[in-house]
Amino acid sequence: MSRNRDYTNSPMVTMVRLSPNRTPSRDDIIGFAIHVTGGTGRVANVLSWLERTTTQASYNYVLDDWDLGLCVEEAFRAWSTSSRAIDMRCITIGVVNSVASGQFPISERSQARLIDFLVDACLRNNIARLSHEGDNANLLLKWDRQNLPLHRWTARKACPGQFLVDRMGAIAAEVNRRLAEALGGESNNEIGDDDMITVRNVSGGEWKRGTGENAHLWWYDLGNGLYPINGLFNIGGKTYHFDSRGYMSTGSVVLGRNRFVFESALDAREGALARIEMI
Ligand SMILES: [Zn+2]
Repeated sequence: MSRNRDYTNSPMVTMVRLSPNRTPSRDDIIGFAIHVTGGTGRVANVLSWLERTTTQASYNYVLDDWDLGLCVEEAFRAWSTSSRAIDMRCITIGVVNSVASGQFPISERSQARLIDFLVDACLRNNIARLSHEGDNANLLLKWDRQNLPLHRWTARKACPGQFLVDRMGAIAAEVNRRLAEALGGESNNEIGDDDMITVRNVSGGEWKRGTGENAHLWWYDLGNGLYPINGLFNIGGKTYHFDSRGYMSTGSVVLGRNRFVFESALDAREGALARIEMI
């Protein structure tokens, strides 16, 4: 299948320093491997490091608050993920950290720019949506179910750090919302071609109440302006549904061929999924 033979590069690129650490071919692009650089050095510094043949590694792109660096053109395989299968099918991007330890967070601005980058790259490469279920055991390389693989699944590394691991599903949902907007589709349509309902894992956030007329509604704040929307999310072992505004659903929600019934929400912890009914 040849979906995207005419490879392009991101129009957001502000800096180019191509690395010799690459393989001059690739398979059709189907997803993204999002990495963190593990440091706070700017894009120019990272590109210089990746340009050395002794580094033996690269990303397609490197991103920080100011620049998007092109390191390996999208037409070629970057050496990023310790997995040929993933690097051949994914655009890889290293995001500069705002703190180079602990959960290895990225800044709010870098996160917003990463989402902009992903939306554009999906549109350029005919990727209809992003999916991340946090499932290495069953869904690794099952590209139609999960096209945001994690580096830590294929190497003994923390990459992309707990901060992004906790937010990967919410980032996918936000990109999908933007894609639906760009393509004029239904923004709350969670259903792929196969009617598969996905449940994404998020954690590390905080339950909050809405304000004003939404004071009775709950949402899950992941920081950096990011929160789960449009679908089912696993938080702390329970499944919740969030609507297109990011508010937790109560009562019943029909998704695909099933009705998902949630407990009444006197408290956020009581809004969890109670049962699923066939329609
Ligand atoms: Zn990595």
